[in-house]
Amino acid sequence: MSLRFERLRGGAAGPRLGRLHTARGVVETPAFMPVATRGMMRGPWPDRMRSMGAQMLLANAFHLFARPGAETVEALGGLHRYMAWDGPVLTDSGGFQGFSIGGARLEEDAIVIPHPVGGHSVRWTPALAFETQAALRPDIAMVLDECPPDPRDRVAVAAAVARTLRWAREQRDLHEARGGLAQSGQALFAIVQGGVHEDLRAACAEALISMQFDGYAIGGVSVGEEHGAMMLGVEYSAGQLPPDQVRYLMGVGTPRELVEAVARGIDLFDCVHPARAGRFGAAMTAGGMLNLKNAAFKADPRPIEPGCGCDACATGVPRGALRAGLKDDELLPMSLLAHHNLHFIQSLMKEMRDAIAADAFEGFRSRIASVWTPRPPRA
Ligand SMILES: [Zn+2]
Repeated sequence: MSLRFERLRGGAAGPRLGRLHTARGVVETPAFMPVATRGMMRGPWPDRMRSMGAQMLLANAFHLFARPGAETVEALGGLHRYMAWDGPVLTDSGGFQGFSIGGARLEEDAIVIPHPVGGHSVRWTPALAFETQAALRPDIAMVLDECPPDPRDRVAVAAAVARTLRWAREQRDLHEARGGLAQSGQALFAIVQGGVHEDLRAACAEALISMQFDGYAIGGVSVGEEHGAMMLGVEYSAGQLPPDQVRYLMGVGTPRELVEAVARGIDLFDCVHPARAGRFGAAMTAGGMLNLKNAAFKADPRPIEPGCGCDACATGVPRGALRAGLKDDELLPMSLLAHHNLHFIQSLMKEMRDAIAADAFEGFRSRIASVWTPRPPRA
């Protein structure tokens, strides 16, 4: 058994403390996975990921399939070598790209996605998503699912659940034919859809659990809905999942969302938000988000966050210089701010684990809520 979740504190509901044991090391949960979409972090160097507190990284199977191709990754020694990272890696299946890439369309047995470079249509089927991940050899692969664009649209969400379940069964059979986790050494996680509808979330979770996956994720959340609706989707899903398996909430990563999802029993997260916000000049600090492009920072000699122990702040590059560089699209500010923000999130997760261990989670939750207001819904 090369993947096992050990629950240390908490149960079916509420904040949980745990350890995800993988063949490449232990992940202390709740944990946040930085996103290296094409197998590369955008900014931070691979050898700085451990010191920032990262335990597991995420890469995207569809993007790696599109370029350079799984066979090229294999020829270079596999995904971990490609990423220069010896810790555990999870690959996402590309279901979210069917929602996020403009021009993608859905068919009964595939998502047809425009190639990110060539623009030609790629028929991304459940089997192709599975085989690509089998070739990439991450520690955890995700099933291809359908992520509906509007979590409130009941008809569309119900159709997405039906398709997600049919595709999940197909991929579970491929996984079993390959010997499952025990033989292949690769875990396969299923994704619960169902939007903001409790009965659809429950039916989806129940059907997936009966198929016996190695772990479960919650998808179709954080697609533009407001904070309250997002947390309903999380709550409805988490409540249905087995207490002794890891629960992964996909695509959520603001401080407020992370803490509120942990309060609802989530163990694992990923999101592009912290690094992307950094590349746009926003710094996450104990006092909230700072927009370093603001004129107020023009002559500010301080580092990104005084007192921060991260490698980016340790360089001493002043806020005023970062601001000037951002205005000229220099790479260094984007790299330093992405690193600092990811370090900030990793520190937040560590504080959260410590707070759960010390029975002090509610106080921590209130403190975060007082600084970080929910992200506004997208129009
Ligand atoms: Zn820092």
